[in-house]
Amino acid sequence: MEEAEKNIQRQIERASHLLSRFGAACLRVPELGALLEKLRRLIERTDSLMVDSGVVEACSRCARVTGSCCFREMGQSYTDVQLLINGLLGCSFPQVAQYPGGCFFAGEKGCTLKARHAFCLNYFCPDLMNTPGTETVLEIQLQVGEQLLAGWELEFALGRFLTSHSIPAHL
Ligand code: SF4
Ligand code: SF4
Repeated sequence: MEEAEKNIQRQIERASHLLSRFGAACLRVPELGALLEKLRRLIERTDSLMVDSGVVEACSRCARVTGSCCFREMGQSYTDVQLLINGLLGCSFPQVAQYPGGCFFAGEKGCTLKARHAFCLNYFCPDLMNTPGTETVLEIQLQVGEQLLAGWELEFALGRFLTSHSIPAHL
């Protein structure tokens, strides 16, 4: 197994440890609970826009036929806290990479993460731009912006929470 893949597995182990050690305590903090629910709602809204506009279908077809643009370095760029957020949102992390050379988090049914990076949400290749049309792409990007802002708010609040428990947080 490659070193890069082992690094992600170690990262997942750290996030899973944080989740089991502090997950329930985080949810009892009103500010964190409210920020998590806000993020969950915004993700649901983004996801349904992506489905309704045909983006999900187009990207799934692309992944089946030519391989998606989910490249390996994207999977390596998630921090402990970002993975912890995904764990709090109920994601199950893969044990091994499904697609050699691709992102560790790419699964057979698409991305296994819910709170994704800006690049994952904002990238529309030229072919994909033609699927929903410019106006819908703009609508999706505005929605994505709101989701990302809510994600950052939660990341910083979680970072403060972990630091107050003497856990060095990697934001
Ligand atoms: S953005 Fe384009 S290249 Fe990436 S998965 Fe979607 S259709 Fe494929
Ligand atoms: S959308 Fe998911 S699978 Fe694709 S690059 Fe982003 S994190 Fe990886």
